[in-house]
Amino acid sequence: MIAKSSPILVLFLAAFGAPQSIPAQKPERPPNFVIIFADDLGYGDLGCYGHPTIRTPNLDRMAAEGLRFTDFYSAASVCTPSRAALMTGRYPVRSGMASAKRRVLFPDSKGGLPAGEITLAEGLKTKGYATGCFGKWHLGHLPQFLPTANGFDTYFGIPYSNDMDAIKGSDSGSLEPKTGDYRPPLLRDAREIERGPDQTRITRRYTEEALAFIEAHRDEPFFVYLPHSMPHVPLFRSEPFVGRSPRGLYGDVLAEIDWSVGRILDTLRDTGLVENTLVFFTSDNGPWLIMDLAGGSAGLLREGKGSTWEGGMREPGIAWWPGRIKPGRVTSELACTMDLYSTCLTLAGAKVPDDRPVDGLDLSPLLFGDSDTKSPRESLIYYRGTEIYAARKGAYKAHFITRAGYGQAAPEAHDPPLLFNLENDPSETIDVSAKHPDVLAEIVRMVAAHGKTVEEVPLQLEIR
Ligand code: MG
Repeated sequence: MIAKSSPILVLFLAAFGAPQSIPAQKPERPPNFVIIFADDLGYGDLGCYGHPTIRTPNLDRMAAEGLRFTDFYSAASVCTPSRAALMTGRYPVRSGMASAKRRVLFPDSKGGLPAGEITLAEGLKTKGYATGCFGKWHLGHLPQFLPTANGFDTYFGIPYSNDMDAIKGSDSGSLEPKTGDYRPPLLRDAREIERGPDQTRITRRYTEEALAFIEAHRDEPFFVYLPHSMPHVPLFRSEPFVGRSPRGLYGDVLAEIDWSVGRILDTLRDTGLVENTLVFFTSDNGPWLIMDLAGGSAGLLREGKGSTWEGGMREPGIAWWPGRIKPGRVTSELACTMDLYSTCLTLAGAKVPDDRPVDGLDLSPLLFGDSDTKSPRESLIYYRGTEIYAARKGAYKAHFITRAGYGQAAPEAHDPPLLFNLENDPSETIDVSAKHPDVLAEIVRMVAAHGKTVEEVPLQLEIR
């Protein structure tokens, strides 16, 4: 410290004025977040994840400029619980947003995300973020459950799945679906502005809303949540994308989502926000395989949407933040959507709630690290409804119960559980439970410890 009477200080004051007149350094602006969430997109559906005929140049470039995950998971195999986990950083069983009886919310549902949950948007609001949600919400369509009641300043979108409110005789898996067959509401904030919107324009409209929001809030920290209605069936795309893909309608739809990603990244570049924005792309659950050509592909993974085999929950995951994330990295470290909650809150300087169990972990060391950086996540629990069907620890995954994602097949319990090494057998074909009883015992212990942290709560999906 220089004493008050110091001649150096006197000289300094004479030359430059009193220190008070030097403007206080502006606190560094926290980063913006953009989460782009596809619906029912499979692990094998992007160019950069090996699809031979679906072209996704913008997502491929995003991956080349950022970090691509090979082992990124959603926290459930169907829409509503998966979205609840993303928004709360918690396994959906904790918020009551999971059920075996009704696996998602429907237009006659009276439940939704409980007010006591602290959403990512609510957490970011404590740090002054502008928050916008543009797309499919599916965490309750009654006013008290909408994005505008959950920390978002604004909302534009279809509040549940785009195949709901269908007229009789409609065929959502058709390769020539009619948008007029579906009459879901389109909301602006909490107000219905259209009924049965033209779904051929829905991807474009969500994108335009998100872009306008970014432009309007370029001078303050923002969070854009862009959960596309597509490529959930019925599949629709706008005119410029018709007949674009050798993969057919599904490929056309992905071409439009890829275009949307390109527009978002271009706008961040044009507005000079590129080095202060984390963009993350993933999907809510695996491909809806029973939709045949209208459904996606899980690539080399087993099964799809609705199941706790890898195809149901392992998803493409791409993180992009030029200047912070080293380009061209690929990681096989474990991570999941719940981690985005804790990561974004931590990067924003906001508090991760400590009055309840939060399952998300801060991924920033992994995001900003090198090719050999480890993930803080070592395990994952696979729920179907409120029941634990499987669990992964490191390379190994144990199945306690298996069941096809859809159809009449009954659940099959396994004692001893099936055990697969996902590193050398990602397709889950070779049961190694007999060889590794120690690994199985460890996973069983881990699941028991997890189970002790789960409290019984009202099941929101069963309220109607
Ligand atoms: Mg879905």
